[in-house]
Amino acid sequence: MSSVFSKIKQAWHLYKEIDIDALNKLAAKVDLAEVMRNVGKLDDTQLAGLMKMLGGNHSHKPKPSPPIEGDFYHLGHMLTEEERALQLKVRAFMETEIHPIINKYWLKAEFPFEIIEKLAALNICGVTYKGYGCPGLSNVMEGILTMEMARVDASITTFFGVQSGLAMGSIYLLGSEEQKQEWLPGMQQMKTIGAFGLTEPEVGSGAAGGLTTTAKRTGDSWILNGQKKWIGNATFADVTIIWARDIDDGNVKGFLVRKGTPGFTTEKIADKMALRVVQNAIITLTNCAVEEKDRLQNANSFKDTSNVLRMTRAGVAWEAVGCARGAYESALKYTKERKQFGKPIASFQLIQNHLVEMLSNLTAMQTMVYRLSQLQDEGKLTDEHASLAKVFCTLRTRDIVSKAREVMGGNGILLEYDVARFVADAEAIYSYEGTKEINSLIVGRAITGFSAFV
Ligand SMILES: Cc1cc2nc3c(=O)[nH]c(=O)nc-3n(C[C@H](O)[C@H](O)[C@H](O)COP(=O)(O)OP(=O)(O)OC[C@H]3O[C@@H](n4cnc5c(N)ncnc54)[C@H](O)[C@@H]3O)c2cc1C
Repeated sequence: MSSVFSKIKQAWHLYKEIDIDALNKLAAKVDLAEVMRNVGKLDDTQLAGLMKMLGGNHSHKPKPSPPIEGDFYHLGHMLTEEERALQLKVRAFMETEIHPIINKYWLKAEFPFEIIEKLAALNICGVTYKGYGCPGLSNVMEGILTMEMARVDASITTFFGVQSGLAMGSIYLLGSEEQKQEWLPGMQQMKTIGAFGLTEPEVGSGAAGGLTTTAKRTGDSWILNGQKKWIGNATFADVTIIWARDIDDGNVKGFLVRKGTPGFTTEKIADKMALRVVQNAIITLTNCAVEEKDRLQNANSFKDTSNVLRMTRAGVAWEAVGCARGAYESALKYTKERKQFGKPIASFQLIQNHLVEMLSNLTAMQTMVYRLSQLQDEGKLTDEHASLAKVFCTLRTRDIVSKAREVMGGNGILLEYDVARFVADAEAIYSYEGTKEINSLIVGRAITGFSAFV
């Protein structure tokens, strides 16, 4: 009888891993007819004993694989039904409209203009603003939607963030009522595209006190001179907000510069290794005349500019979370499918350790930004709150994308597996809207009382 058991056991082990190849191997190694004859001779007790010995599993179906899910603490379940539906709508849009085309555009460093109308149709632009056709959703919801976008692609998220956050936000927070009426409805529908020009070739982190672009009032106009660098969307934007220092009172002011204004030229920054779809430009302003009515009427100093940045910095933290989540989910899926040594690599302890480290950081980041946006909804968001989240999330994202790339072996550097794009894009997110050092200094000043910028 023991040889009968050993034959059945041999057949069973081969059968458990069955696929077409295994079936052929099984037929070559075991006389299936003999196995069946032997099984037929067993009585019920022997059959039950055999099944127990083989693991007691009467079903031949493989165990279902757990879902690929980066929201481990179910933050999505804290949303209302309506909010959850919108989250899934944006996810579906990103997966069906953006994912199939994005690598091609990323490689060419071109922007897919055909998606603007479809993105506008989601009616999410100007997410939190009230009036002017904007949806007036919560800051938590804005964060969730930003994460959903970045989970698929950070370039489109950046394009959207410049439009909805930096450009519309400057007008919403600092424009006069006439300026809001003129610009916001068209921008909400994405018929009018905006850009935000603060950084200069020689002035990045030190923008607060060091802007060299000048504005000189002459009658009803202002004359702008200087250069801006890195300005997203600027090569095609209908309106660019230019931040310049008033020569007369020394304060930073904001100007709505319309496309085609004489003295305003843009040059695309070529050969970026990150966010290649975003069209960043160097802007040159040469005696560029802007009417007083196009000066942001409530932007009187850099403090006002900072109000816009505080709001958008929280968004960048969410963007980092989305980028990390996209990389984690891609990596998890890959490790379940990829086999080495005859087993899925996800079944190896060292790979699981990487995955769990990624998930731990991702979960910490998600809970952090969720609370950050709750503070924002309560009107309690401070610069240091936003800066801490920006520092932590962008730093952890770098770590997560690099681990995601690691568990994918060679394929981790191929664009077609998406993670390579996340790795590259995380570098830009890490630097813009305040570097790690600058945001750390903002938090450091808040907790120690000492300003250590200079
Ligand atoms: C892809 C991309 C898109 C962007 N889009 C826009 C945009 O749309 N509009 C816009 O206005 N800007 C934009 N930026 C600019 C961005 O905000 C700046 O790159 C960023 O603020 C850093 O400035 P910098 O690159 O000049 O670096 P620098 O300020 O020269 O910094 C270089 C290094 O020095 C460190 N450093 C500087 N000062 C200190 C200090 N006091 N103590 C310690 N370390 C310090 C920095 O942290 C950094 O590590 C974009 C940038 C990128 C890369």
